[in-house]
Amino acid sequence: MLNEEVAVTTQLENVVELRGGHAPLALAPRDISAAAWGRYEAQIGEIFQAFGLPLDTPGTRSTPERFLRALYDSTAGYDGDPKLLTAFPTEAGDGHAAAFGQIIEGPIAFTALCEHHALPFHGHVHIGYVAGERIIGISKLTRLVRLFARRFTVQERLGEQIADTLVELIEPQGVAVRIEASHLCTQMRGVEEHSRTTTTFWRGAFEDSELRREFLDETHRRTVR
Ligand SMILES: [Zn+2]
Repeated sequence: MLNEEVAVTTQLENVVELRGGHAPLALAPRDISAAAWGRYEAQIGEIFQAFGLPLDTPGTRSTPERFLRALYDSTAGYDGDPKLLTAFPTEAGDGHAAAFGQIIEGPIAFTALCEHHALPFHGHVHIGYVAGERIIGISKLTRLVRLFARRFTVQERLGEQIADTLVELIEPQGVAVRIEASHLCTQMRGVEEHSRTTTTFWRGAFEDSELRREFLDETHRRTVR
């Protein structure tokens, strides 16, 4: 038991080192009191009723409570991800074999809430990187995407955060992130109903146009249509 505790401590120290003084993965669990929850439910209920939803049926009586819970769960990225925090130093493997080519992972599905309308935007992320000393598994990349997607955000910041955090965590030679998403805030209201927004983010070695083309060709091929 004592040995296990020592091992955990060592891992966390490694993480702090990897993080290089910033805290992109910091755990900061939200703390909302029962009184506050009750107040929020009343407020949301008032809005729902004013907008046309009756709250006196068996199906809708708990809707304000369920809505808030769903909203809270959808923004769990603000709480951090303890598994992500401990996984990087232990699971990051030796990247020498892969150092000369790019590794492409995806599509990784995500749903986020746009910070302008608090409505979902959803789609896929592709991540490419040219490894330095370390590589990382796709399950951890999925966690990384979720950590930043489950917040109120915009597509641009989501891509920047994924790219910059990956740079900090595994110090690759370069990172590419491509996000393709549909935004419900435009679709639900009848404007740009079928539009999808694609953004790409480049770091380090991806200044090279050949690497970019390879990444774009491959991710385009993989994109779920
Ligand atoms: Zn929006």
